Amino acid sequence: MSESRFFEAADGADIRCTLCPHQCRITPGGRGACGVRENRNGVLALPYYGYITAIARDPIEKKPFRRFRPGSSILSLGFAGCNLHCPFCQNWRISQIVNGKAAPGRFLSPKEAAALAVDDRQIAYTYSEPLIHAEYLIDCMKQAHERGIANVLVTNGCISEQAAAEILPLTDAANIDLKCFSEETYAKVLGGNLPAVLNFIRMAHSLGVHVEITTLVIPGLNDSDEELDKCAAFIADLAPKAKLRGVSAKAETPWHLSAYHPDYRWNAPPTDPAFLIRAAERARKNLRYVYTGNIGSGRY
Ligand code: SF4
Ligand code: SF4
Repeated sequence: MSESRFFEAADGADIRCTLCPHQCRITPGGRGACGVRENRNGVLALPYYGYITAIARDPIEKKPFRRFRPGSSILSLGFAGCNLHCPFCQNWRISQIVNGKAAPGRFLSPKEAAALAVDDRQIAYTYSEPLIHAEYLIDCMKQAHERGIANVLVTNGCISEQAAAEILPLTDAANIDLKCFSEETYAKVLGGNLPAVLNFIRMAHSLGVHVEITTLVIPGLNDSDEELDKCAAFIADLAPKAKLRGVSAKAETPWHLSAYHPDYRWNAPPTDPAFLIRAAERARKNLRYVYTGNIGSGRY
């Protein structure tokens, strides 16, 4: 079984996983909040290293990306578990470990994963949360780059700076969720950490990763003008060079505003397409590339 290096000793026989902001203290035989990292005899064991719950070939636009290799297909790998517990998760069957049991899957070595992507020339680590499998991710990404295959992350971005500093230099493109702009919502509803996500996005951008941002717009949770404006302002701020070129220059990091549909444990009404289109129009005052998704045509 593989072991992690992202941990430290805690009191007694406990250990602390340092991979994400949760910093889970794990008792012997126990697992962290993501359900995939375990204290075995004082080391952080990875029982799901290489455990793949979904394999598919997708159009890159489905990830979604609009400004990275448009029209291409991408090998997509899904994992088990997540360090967030969004009550509206559309992939909850694989992202949530229920009673210690992961969704059905199979093990795939990093070499096998890279070999599968030879025709597509790109791999997406996606569907649930790839970053909680940082060790496998790093091994896969190295294998992929050795074969000239691009690495594409689709992630919640909720990870420690130390791990981000190892993963991002191997990442060619990332679609990162900015689920809202409220620390309280991140902490109390999603089980996440907004400052860590903002830091991850800034790091990815400054390291030259092609970054696109996605926000699932959920009525009553994150759809106020004020909150969406804060998201847009943060994304616009990622492009200081564009702003320096002139007052009319717009930030170029793409933002995907995606419509919510009831799923898992959340029963708000679906996002009104007309509302999403208006929100996109509003964001375009400051951002060059704003896309709507999940409303039929996918854009307008
Ligand atoms: S990666 Fe998992 S075990 Fe580690 S701190 Fe985060 S939730 Fe806890
Ligand atoms: S971060 Fe994504 S995969 Fe994880 S629970 Fe939330 S919606 Fe699901």
